[in-house]
Amino acid sequence: MKKIVIATKNLGKLKEIKKALENFPVEVLSLADFENIPDVVEDGKTFEENAKIKAKYFSKKTGLACIADDSGLEVDALDGKPGVFSARFAGYHAEDGTNNKKLLEELEKISVEESPADYRCALCFIDTDGKEILTSGIVNGTIKKIPQGTGGFGYDPYFYIDEKKTMAELTPAEKDLISHRGEALRKMTAELQKIFSA
Ligand code: IMP
Repeated sequence: MKKIVIATKNLGKLKEIKKALENFPVEVLSLADFENIPDVVEDGKTFEENAKIKAKYFSKKTGLACIADDSGLEVDALDGKPGVFSARFAGYHAEDGTNNKKLLEELEKISVEESPADYRCALCFIDTDGKEILTSGIVNGTIKKIPQGTGGFGYDPYFYIDEKKTMAELTPAEKDLISHRGEALRKMTAELQKIFSA
């Protein structure tokens, strides 16, 4: 059976990507299945560039087909920050809690209570023969300072999809239907179908 490695250590992302691949005849691995692969420098300026950098690097290191996700939050009032720095907004080894705290502090500094924002996701698949597929997705919402919900991951408790509800209050299936990653994954699986049915 073909093996695909998902180039992430983020369990939230991994869960969402694994679900999308569940009906494919593939064995899905993640970076947790490989020891001693050094981190890659994510120095792209866009989510697409970083997704490509990660997919190419980890495909080469593992010798397997690879899917990488690069994604993040863009807040209008913060001129699009944290953007490609979403995972490390509060520092190199930041976690969701410290990143969320930093987000609230940045909004506090400019006296903003809420702001339009979007989540973006780029996915890159690299096959063992070098074939590359790049897809992307976006979802618009509002960042508010009052967290709600315990689902999802990252900035989800602060990302309002409408007046009342945050991304963290959705079931995984509901999040998948509207999210940036859901959109990018639907486009990706449509392309992968072509490879697997060829
Ligand atoms: P990356 O691992 O460099 O792509 O950074 C992804 C970061 O963006 C995550 O660590 C989160 O902070 C944020 N992010 C991406 N997608 C989501 C999502 O679906 N919900 C919440 N935060 C997200």
